[in-house]
Amino acid sequence: MIQTNTPATLVLLFGATGDLAKRKLYPSLYNLYEKGILSEQFAVIGIARRRLTHEQYRNWVKDSVETFGMPQEKIGKFIRHFYFQSHDVTDENSYRELKGLADELDEKYAANGNRIFYLAMSPEFFGTVAESLKEYGFTDTKGFKRLVIEKPFGWDLSSAVELNERIRSAFSEKEIYRIDHYLGKEMVQNIEVIRFANAIFEPLWNNRYISNIQITSGETLGVEERGRYYEKNGALRDMVQNHMLQIVSLLAMEPPIRLTTDEIRSEKVKVLRALHPIEKKDVHKYFVRGQYGRGIIGGKEVPAYREEPMVDPNSNTETFVAGKLMIDNFRWAGVPFYIRTGKRMQAKTLKIVVQFKDIPMNLYYRNGSSLNPNLLVIHIQPEEGITLHLNVKKSGRTMETTPVKLNFSNKNVDGINTPEAYEKLLYDILRGDATNFTHWDEVAYSWNFVDPISEAWAEEKADFPNYAAGTFGPKAADELLQRDGFFWWPITNLNIDD
Ligand code: NAP
Repeated sequence: MIQTNTPATLVLLFGATGDLAKRKLYPSLYNLYEKGILSEQFAVIGIARRRLTHEQYRNWVKDSVETFGMPQEKIGKFIRHFYFQSHDVTDENSYRELKGLADELDEKYAANGNRIFYLAMSPEFFGTVAESLKEYGFTDTKGFKRLVIEKPFGWDLSSAVELNERIRSAFSEKEIYRIDHYLGKEMVQNIEVIRFANAIFEPLWNNRYISNIQITSGETLGVEERGRYYEKNGALRDMVQNHMLQIVSLLAMEPPIRLTTDEIRSEKVKVLRALHPIEKKDVHKYFVRGQYGRGIIGGKEVPAYREEPMVDPNSNTETFVAGKLMIDNFRWAGVPFYIRTGKRMQAKTLKIVVQFKDIPMNLYYRNGSSLNPNLLVIHIQPEEGITLHLNVKKSGRTMETTPVKLNFSNKNVDGINTPEAYEKLLYDILRGDATNFTHWDEVAYSWNFVDPISEAWAEEKADFPNYAAGTFGPKAADELLQRDGFFWWPITNLNIDD
């Protein structure tokens, strides 16, 4: 897509002093500004309860941008676009004052009534804010209005339905941008291109040639200060319902008839609808949960999950999930999609391994060669690239085979860091492209799939902790694949530059 400048816009940023705004939103907005993509006709009203002057808030924004070591020249000019309003979203009286500032800035910046409402705050407020925006006339605007919502979208299907009804009373589905920041990642967006722009992959992309697909998302961090949030959610709700299922749907979807938002989303929804439902009584056959105990990461001993701040010392919350997903359609019947995600893993990584079926016979066994299956590895983070694993002849007077890797690394090609996911997502929101955001149908089908698993787990106390920090999860996660005759490809051997 050719980059075009963003239209005149007023952004109302709820939760302007929070962690997300500081670490992701200000640096991403600044990147867009610094590159000249963000129109000069933009203003941001930062909203939080604490009392800050415009000047204090601008310094806050400046600090956040400087912390990330970005070019300095335009910061002074950039922060002049920021204004602060002290406002409690649960206090009805303060919406009028906020509206007055919004109308004033709309005129000052000739924003044409274009408004983005970004809810970077606790999900408990999403419904209240959306309803109040309508009630106090923020949404009666002659320009576009867009509501941006962070995760989590609900806690299960019924709470998600309830939240959706509340926000839909003020915004249409087309005006709602549900963030799944994995969809802003360069190589996640590349899945579609790798599949649909190459003649060599798509013909093989089915159950005749693929034996299984493995998706691993690992963090080395623990829960940090987010113990309270995490206790309530756990890895299944925090990672699987959204990010992992989104990646599965991109890998498994049919080619859309056009690259439009509606067509792509409709193909993704079909995958989620085709997920083989897991009944509560069968959860143990398909899913494994884990919680980290003490262990060593980066040479340092780290505490167990139950020893983290704001975590119940007898917590039943999972910090790791592995699962086997089956997709009941012609293309994928019989091909397991294995997913695993966890905190305090051995490595920070997000990788997809597509394992192709073995060739019908090994002609080289007499030479002592066992053939490795062909793998296509998509590296999403920290490395960005793809690797194709092949077998070739060992050089010399021999017909023995040896495995090799064909590597493509994004770093080597572009020579620049790819933009942060949030920079791309903000750019899309400003331009009104909802392709990389989750549609309500995707949210609903995902909860529908995940709910029986969380219900089964809530009913039974787990034997936690069951994996040491600094490993790739409990033994049961390995056994899940062993039962099918597979194993997790060791992540550390898959890196691009090996
Ligand atoms: P946070 O650090 O706790 O920030 C919350 C913000 O909301 C603060 O600015 C706070 O400022 C404001 N706030 C709280 N209560 C308010 C009220 N009643 N009225 C007005 N403002 C209020 O939260 P966060 O980590 O930035 O997370 C924000 C959202 O992003 C959440 O939905 C989270 O799940 C999601 N998210 C966060 C991350 C991340 O990396 N942090 C990643 C993915 C998704 P005052 O205290 O001054 O009011």
